Amino acid sequence: MAQVWKIAPGNRAEDWQVFSEHGCIGIGWLERRDYREFKNEGAVLEALQLEYGEGTKGCGKGAAEIIWRFVDGIKPTHIVIANDGYNRMVGIGIVESEYIPPTAHENPMRDDMHTHRHHVRLIKWIIRRPADVPGTRFFVQRTLHPLDETKVDAIKQAYLIAYPDDSEILDQLDQLFGDNSIPETAKARDFNDVGPGKVLTTAYRILRDTELARRVKVMHNFECQICGYAIVLGDGSRYAEAHHIRPLGSPHDGPDIMGNIICLCPNHHAECDLGVSELSLSSLHPADGHDLEPRFIEYHNREIYMPGKR
Ligand SMILES: [Zn+2]
Repeated sequence: MAQVWKIAPGNRAEDWQVFSEHGCIGIGWLERRDYREFKNEGAVLEALQLEYGEGTKGCGKGAAEIIWRFVDGIKPTHIVIANDGYNRMVGIGIVESEYIPPTAHENPMRDDMHTHRHHVRLIKWIIRRPADVPGTRFFVQRTLHPLDETKVDAIKQAYLIAYPDDSEILDQLDQLFGDNSIPETAKARDFNDVGPGKVLTTAYRILRDTELARRVKVMHNFECQICGYAIVLGDGSRYAEAHHIRPLGSPHDGPDIMGNIICLCPNHHAECDLGVSELSLSSLHPADGHDLEPRFIEYHNREIYMPGKR
């Protein structure tokens, strides 16, 4: 995974719009200086103390660390996540340039009067939409901070949940983080719909689930209709997978109707996909209002179930 940074485009993301439009991200402090003059973080701190006075809040060691990271830590190809407060992202992009000082010709913010954050990096903003991460104070650090893989996974998941059934967001996450970037905790294989070598996950499940599939899972309280097991996540929510008994798409061309959908745990989902399990209507756990059609069960047992391979 490329190094990922979170950066706040001002308080409450006040400068997000202008950075998004100009294809960059910027920080303030020492507007008349060129950060490349500084040899190390200590030299930055000296300059800050000279300019703003020693002990001035927001202009001490923390600021020096941010400036030094901005100049020396961030590299082209790194990823930046723009945040708004503790629990919201507003955009994600790829770093495209080295540090650019305020007065440089190539600085897109050179003539901008809107913000005082004119030390910039060019960013190719891939995602320009907000999403919220659950929990209290997800982004605890100040302006600029590296993010570990756990945080990045949570951010990806938050976008997938915020924009279900949105193939654009999946493409954008792929562009940013690559195909194998989906959270480990959410991994589940699908043998029907994907090419070789692709890692599949909840992300796909969320995107692939139709409205009806979601309804079926809720009707069964996320309990597997074969074994009754429900995965309970750390936050108390539940996880299950919806399976179209006669699969959607070629060559099966099953319909997306409730009578063709069952709620399964990941193991039984894989078993059904792989034709390991035979299905019988009478042994599937029922739910009020969810009537499975025998013709799909018969289709599964005839076309997908492979008794000889057991
Ligand atoms: Zn099961």
